[in-house]
Amino acid sequence: IKEAVKKEINPSPTDISYNTWFESLVPLCFDDNDTLILKAFADFHRDIVINRYSLVILNALRQLFSPHLSIKVILPEEVEKYKKFLKPKQDEKPEIVTQLNPKYTFETFVVGNNNRLAHAAALAVAETPPGERTYNPLFIYGGVGLGKTHLMHAIGHHVLKLYPGTKVMYVTSEIFTNELIAAIRDEKTDEFRLKYRNVDVLLIDDIQFLGGKERTQEEFFHTFNTLYEANKKIILSSDRPPKEINTLEDRLRSRFEWGLITDIQPPDFETRIAILSKKCQLEGTPVPQHILEFIASKIETNIRELEGALNKILAYSKLMAPDKEITLELAEKALKEFIDTNTKKELTIEDIQAEVASYFGIRLEDFKSSRRSRNVAYPRQIAMYLARELTNVSLPKIGEAFGGKDHTTVLHACEKIKELINTDSNTRNAVETIKKRLIHRE
Ligand code: ADP
Ligand code: MG
Repeated sequence: IKEAVKKEINPSPTDISYNTWFESLVPLCFDDNDTLILKAFADFHRDIVINRYSLVILNALRQLFSPHLSIKVILPEEVEKYKKFLKPKQDEKPEIVTQLNPKYTFETFVVGNNNRLAHAAALAVAETPPGERTYNPLFIYGGVGLGKTHLMHAIGHHVLKLYPGTKVMYVTSEIFTNELIAAIRDEKTDEFRLKYRNVDVLLIDDIQFLGGKERTQEEFFHTFNTLYEANKKIILSSDRPPKEINTLEDRLRSRFEWGLITDIQPPDFETRIAILSKKCQLEGTPVPQHILEFIASKIETNIRELEGALNKILAYSKLMAPDKEITLELAEKALKEFIDTNTKKELTIEDIQAEVASYFGIRLEDFKSSRRSRNVAYPRQIAMYLARELTNVSLPKIGEAFGGKDHTTVLHACEKIKELINTDSNTRNAVETIKKRLIHRE
């Protein structure tokens, strides 16, 4: 039907708004009154279709089929009423747009002091019935491996469980960006827009990577507005709060601050133990309490590593002493190996430059240039400071790696950043975040 009507209407291919609204309209069925039922995805979509296009569509239909036809535009919630007219094997598009990791649910998420608020907010958002107001957007930030992705998937699962049929979409900001680039390349930006503006719950992970990507930000801005106005849920995660995402457009930053911003901190000792025991319980492999305490005392900041350490010890014990209880000695050995392999790769100045560049959204060449404007000079000084602190490279060699700068320049940078760390919280946070990422880099 749709193709026929489209042909009849013959829209000009450049009429973007027309194509957008028409393409997203789904013809469902005819009811017993010769009325064609069309499904719109939201109030505003229905209104636009009725106001602008109902006449054109109607004329086309009457030309094509019968002069007695009429149309009716309904919302997704009303589909139920027309069930009896639906043909049995009418394939709807799959409702789950993205795969969610089945392990990342609220049931497997351990709540501690470090994440209590983030968890409560995530749960509240997930439980809010579709279309009702809630924290929007929900912005979750925190360091690497602290459970942001887990929490986002949990929201997705919970929404699907409570409100089946909801369109949930989870993407990383990298995927969002790559899809946009592909869409631009293939001249399919309309499809891209529709795909993202057609969802009920949009989860975008690691939004800090949008920093510096102007076109992506522009596109996301419009997606955000459309979803926001339709009261669709938007959940974002980042490794830092919006105000610290450099090269983020102000209009996006301010929108991120409209809803609720909540953080996840590193877990305390008790929470680390609780996470480990939960893991053991889920895997069905009991591990003595004092071994869990040992692991929790050794690995403090990153939950992904905490899990890695536990797995390493389990694997080790299976191999070395399959039928015996894990001893502290064995755990120590396994953990030492784990920590060694985890820190084996030596950090280079290039690693540091890459991480600092991505944090501040500057180019690698900027480190080597002699530009002194603050947005380049300050990250350069931070990179020099980190190179000094985290590698064994000498001052003159560090200077070389920054485009042949004098060793006194490097020394000056180190001292200045050291001082700023004590006096300026932005610098302190930046240095800490970058350090963490360097230490936990894959
Ligand atoms: P992030 O996205 O913040 O880098 P992830 O969500 O990927 O971190 O979490 C890293 C690992 O730690 C995952 O395997 C996740 O299941 C686990 N994890 C994180 N927080 C918790 C928690 N509170 N309870 C149980 N597991 C957790
Ligand atoms: Mg993540």
